[in-house]
Amino acid sequence: MDDVPEPRVTGPFDVLVQVGAAGLCRTDLHIVEGQWAEKSGVALPYVIGHENAGWVREVGSAVSNVAPGDAVILHPLVTCGLCGPCRRGDDVHCESSRFPGIDSDGGMAELLLTSARSVVKLADGLEPAAVAALADAGLTAYHAVRKAVPLLHPGATCVVIGAGGLGHIGIQCLVAMTAARIVVVDPNPRARELASQLGAHEVVESGKDLTDSAHIVLDFVGEQGAEREGLAITRRAGSYFIIGYGGKIDIPTIDLISTERNIIGNLVGSYTDLDELMTLAAQGQVTLHTKRYPLASVNEAMDDLEAGRLQGRGILVP
Ligand SMILES: [Zn+2]
Ligand SMILES: [Zn+2]
Repeated sequence: MDDVPEPRVTGPFDVLVQVGAAGLCRTDLHIVEGQWAEKSGVALPYVIGHENAGWVREVGSAVSNVAPGDAVILHPLVTCGLCGPCRRGDDVHCESSRFPGIDSDGGMAELLLTSARSVVKLADGLEPAAVAALADAGLTAYHAVRKAVPLLHPGATCVVIGAGGLGHIGIQCLVAMTAARIVVVDPNPRARELASQLGAHEVVESGKDLTDSAHIVLDFVGEQGAEREGLAITRRAGSYFIIGYGGKIDIPTIDLISTERNIIGNLVGSYTDLDELMTLAAQGQVTLHTKRYPLASVNEAMDDLEAGRLQGRGILVP
């Protein structure tokens, strides 16, 4: 913990946010371990925290969509609005973006500087600390489900691998948006119990009996063998969505063309995805399991995450 200069509004579209809560992500552990040093190209130290929500404190001269006092959740990227991907609403692939908490100062602080393009106003009754983790974990899960929805006709089978931090949000999104049959694979009995409570139609310990069964597989694990099992579960002409990562896929190309299976990568989500997800949150269709820590206990929270003592998403409240 350290005192740093306060960020200030300088540009016309700047929005200064008083942080209400910052979610703790495994990526934060990887940053501290140094895994992101080369990728993000920033000089240490800086403020981490890329799942943020709070209240608008001050806005630049051209900001018209929010005003001081508004409760907001922040899309994780600060985007340009002018490049091709931004014009198409594909914020994550902006060609000139900033990623607070990854390549510039983030939300594990009292104040965070973002832009008017990145703030989604919260509906009445939604509190920043209750939704902060939807900004990253929730958005990533929603984005994948949203892409799968047109492929999930009523009665189609969707197998979800992993009902943890992201998976338990993905299950809620599937229940809210599809009439698919939802089968959840997780070796952890508590995770399976949660999946059933959230509306999964079937929960199993392993995917070994599910070969060729799924129109869609949503793999929230992506390592430790899940990546092999996931492809095996995907039926002919089905799609295997990779959301969790760490493993490696090695498959003869003939196996893909002869079965016409698709392998689909998923990265965070767009501003529109976040806006839609907040609608589900406001309707009470997506809720989060979290554990709150005061910001000053950040090191204890990170130790808990690292050691697997954290149930649900860790939230830091300044
Ligand atoms: Zn993250
Ligand atoms: Zn852009």
